[in-house]
Amino acid sequence: MEQPARPLNAEQWLARVFADGRPRTFGTGWISGILGIVLGLLALFAVLCLHFPQYLTLPELRSRYPLELVRLAIDVGLLAAMALAGLSMLLRRRKALGVTGLVLAGAALALGAGGVEIPRGGASAVYLGLDWFVLGTLSTAAVFVPLERAFPLRAEQGAFRRGWLTDTQYFFASHALAQVMSVAVLAPAVALGSLLAVPSAQSAVQSLPVVVQFALAVLVADLAQYGVHRAFHAVPFLWRFHKVHHSLEAMDWIAGSRLHLVDVIVTRGLVLLALLVAGFADTAVYAYLALVSFHAVFIHANFAPRAAWLERWIAMPRFHHWHHGIEPEARDVNFAVHLPMIDRWFGTHHMPDDRWPSGYGIAGERAPEGWARQLVWPLGRT
Ligand SMILES: [Zn+2]
Ligand SMILES: [Zn+2]
Repeated sequence: MEQPARPLNAEQWLARVFADGRPRTFGTGWISGILGIVLGLLALFAVLCLHFPQYLTLPELRSRYPLELVRLAIDVGLLAAMALAGLSMLLRRRKALGVTGLVLAGAALALGAGGVEIPRGGASAVYLGLDWFVLGTLSTAAVFVPLERAFPLRAEQGAFRRGWLTDTQYFFASHALAQVMSVAVLAPAVALGSLLAVPSAQSAVQSLPVVVQFALAVLVADLAQYGVHRAFHAVPFLWRFHKVHHSLEAMDWIAGSRLHLVDVIVTRGLVLLALLVAGFADTAVYAYLALVSFHAVFIHANFAPRAAWLERWIAMPRFHHWHHGIEPEARDVNFAVHLPMIDRWFGTHHMPDDRWPSGYGIAGERAPEGWARQLVWPLGRT
């Protein structure tokens, strides 16, 4: 008997429209087509930011942009998107990739491209960080796409592995919802931090050289993160939220974004609180924030560098991949983000010689797809 056709999910639908089963190697119009779409979309977002800065950009960044350079970058990006989309149309029989890139770039052009006059107007109380998303995508992809291409762990995996669309939504949300983060994380941490602070201890910390403060900040933050992370694994109510992160079935630079909002707010809030109570200078805290935004992406990457000597001291991808491993031996191990020695101190370190986990995920359980469904997933019955 014939099975009734199941409706396609968004990933399958996109694959049907864009991937025509033809090769995706260099010279087939696949890479140029994808790049054309990404650049076209980012250019369109950037033009929208020029039109509606009060609603779409972060106030902290808004006043600091070198505007002439931004305008030039938008125009160059737009032209590159068009050229790449055109190239893809020439090389590929199915034109969906090229046409989509052209439509996106065309929309950005029709809306005024880099020449948009910026409206004068008051600030809005509610805004998205669309500019932060554009910058985050460009800078993170520029570092990690070449790394994953040059030294891949799973070369056959490809960018469009299972769950890529969900993780892209997380990447978008984690940047665009920056205001939610600063209200929910920064404000309470600062308020509570000033209550708990011991002024004499803080001035002792601040008398240390900034480099030493930075090193201590990494240790303090990772110790705090270790404790919070272990609690998220050990307490069933918290695990409901953290298992969203462990529902990843493929690892790459975009996968690390998959974190439930509650997980992000509690973990970041408490880590920041620890740093504020310790009293580190702003420079050391900012340097730490820059490090963690890189390192948290790095440890999820589909990247297998040969640096066994480093693995003892710094969390490398293999260390955190084991945290996500599907094997029973990978349960509740490697909680640190930066310093594997913390797991050694507490007996949760697991680094079998030269092996990687065979797969990732939660045994016997699969998360629903999409950011919104995963947001309410922890609240449902289990
Ligand atoms: Zn975990
Ligand atoms: Zn992870």
